[in-house]
Amino acid sequence: MQPAIIKILENKYLWIKWSDETETKIGLQKLRELCPCATCHAERANQSKSYIPLIQKNQIMVAELKVVGNYAINIKWRDGHNTGFYEYTFLRNLAGQE
Ligand SMILES: [Zn+2]
Repeated sequence: MQPAIIKILENKYLWIKWSDETETKIGLQKLRELCPCATCHAERANQSKSYIPLIQKNQIMVAELKVVGNYAINIKWRDGHNTGFYEYTFLRNLAGQE
């Protein structure tokens, strides 16, 4: 499945319209919290269940969005973090959980 349109809505949501006409809308904060890069993955693994992440505004604002090959998008956040590659299947599954 490929995205036909990718947009950031109100600086709050990532919105994707897929080639099959279905739509996916995911909160940017959720996306950042679930950043799939190795660094964030390790950080989350080291945290206790009661840990509440303090998210700063520039961490959930998108500076740049790039399509990577035909399988993922790469998001660069305002705080400079840009190692997260969000695969399309990951994004679709994430939206399905709402
Ligand atoms: Zn990350």
